[in-house]
Amino acid sequence: MDYRLSPELEDLRRTVEEFAHEVVAPKIGDFYERHEFPYEIVREMGRMGLFGLPFPEEYGGMGGDYLALGVALEELARVDSSIAITLEAGVSLGAMPIHLYGTEAQKQEWLPRLCTGEMLGAFGLTEPDGGSDAGATRTTARLDSATNEWVINGTKCFITNSGTDITGLVTVTAVTGRKPDGRPQISSIIVPSGTPGFTVAAPYSKVGWNASDTRELSFTDVRVPAENLLGEEGRGYAQFLRILDEGRIAIAALATGLAQGCVDESVKYAKERQAFGKPIAANQAIQFKIADMEMKAHTARLAWRDAAARLVSGAAFKKEAALAKLHSSTVAVDNAREATQIHGGYGFMNEYPVARMWRDSKILEIGEGTSEVQRMLIARELGLVG
Ligand SMILES: Cc1cc2nc3c(=O)[nH]c(=O)nc-3n(C[C@H](O)[C@H](O)[C@H](O)COP(=O)(O)OP(=O)(O)OC[C@H]3O[C@@H](n4cnc5c(N)ncnc54)[C@H](O)[C@@H]3O)c2cc1C
Repeated sequence: MDYRLSPELEDLRRTVEEFAHEVVAPKIGDFYERHEFPYEIVREMGRMGLFGLPFPEEYGGMGGDYLALGVALEELARVDSSIAITLEAGVSLGAMPIHLYGTEAQKQEWLPRLCTGEMLGAFGLTEPDGGSDAGATRTTARLDSATNEWVINGTKCFITNSGTDITGLVTVTAVTGRKPDGRPQISSIIVPSGTPGFTVAAPYSKVGWNASDTRELSFTDVRVPAENLLGEEGRGYAQFLRILDEGRIAIAALATGLAQGCVDESVKYAKERQAFGKPIAANQAIQFKIADMEMKAHTARLAWRDAAARLVSGAAFKKEAALAKLHSSTVAVDNAREATQIHGGYGFMNEYPVARMWRDSKILEIGEGTSEVQRMLIARELGLVG
C-alpha cells in the first residue's frame, strides 16, 4: 500500500500547482467579482490537456484516469473553485457519460473537442421539483416514429457549463416510458446546443462559484435524431447513478483542495498579521486551529485517493466515494469558516482568497448529492435499508 503519487502524477500535480498560482490566482478574483466566465483561463487549461485527462489518447485524451483528474482538481481548487468546478463538470458530467455509454460514432463526434476544452459538455439531471429524488424526473422524451426523432419537453435547473459560448451539448435525463410496475423508465439523450426549442436562461446569481456557469434550461418540443440516445433506452437512471458515484470522487478532490487552500492562506496570514506585539501565529489558539485544519485536509485527501484508487483498480467504490464526498465537503466548510476567522475583518473582504473560499465551500455539501444523500448511500451500503 502506497499513498504517495507516482512520479507522473507528481509531475502533473506540480504543473497544475504552478498554473494555478501563476495564471489563475492573479486573474480569477476579477472574473469572480464580475460574475464572468474566464474563457482565457479555460482555453489555457484545454491546451494543457486537463479536459482530456481521464480519456484515451485515440479520442484526444491524455490516457490518464480518475486519480489524475483528482490531482488536477485538488491543485486548482487550492487556489480557486470556479475554475475547478468548470473542469470537474466538463469532464465528469459533460464528457464522461459519452465516454462510458456512447456509441463509437458519438465518441468520434464529441470526445475530441471535449478533450481539448474547445467545447464544454453539461449534464442535465436536476429539475425544479427535485434533485435528490432524481427518479422523480418530469422531463419527457417521446420517439416520433414518423421522423425517427426524440421530442423532448421539460425543464432542468442548476446545470453547470450549460450556457457558455463554448457549450456544445447537454445530456439530459428524460422519462421515455413506463416499466411493467408503472415506474418511469428514464433514458439519457444528447441535445446539441442551439437545437430549436432548447432555451438557456441567463446565469443564476449565486452565493459562490461566481466565475462558473450555471443555468436553467427549458425544452419545448425539442427534436433530436433517435441516435442521440446515450446508452440503452431505459438505462438512464442506472447510468447517471454510476456517473454520480464517480463524480463524487472528483468533488471530494476539489473539496480537499479548498480545505488545503484555507490552510495555505491561514499559515501565510497568521505569520504576517501582528496583534499584541507579535504575529497571531504565536498564539496556541491560532496554531491549534491551523493544525486541526491541516489534519482535516489530510484525511480528506486520503479518503478521495482511496476511493479513486478503488475505482481505477476496478474494485467496488460506491461507499468510499460517498464517504470521501461527505468528509471532504464537511472539512471544506469547517476550514473555510476557520480561515475566515483567522483573517479577522480582512477575511470578510472579497479581495482575500479566503472570502471566496468561504462562499465557495457551502455548495460542496449540496452539489452532486447532498450530505444527507451521502449518509443515505453509506447507510444503504451497510445494509441499513429503510
Ligand atoms: C451551483 C450548482 C451547480 C449544479 N450543477 C448541476 C449540474 O451540472 N447538473 C445537475 O443535474 N444538477 C446540478 N446541480 C443540482 C444539485 O445536484 C442539486 O441541487 C442537489 O442534488 C440537491 O437537490 P435539490 O436542490 O433539488 O434539493 P432537494 O432534493 O430538494 O433537497 C432539499 C433538502 O432536503 C434534503 N433531503 C432530501 N431528501 C431527503 C431524505 N430522503 N432524507 C433526508 N434529507 C433529505 C436534502 O439533503 C436537502 O438538504 C447543481 C446545483 C448547484 C447549486
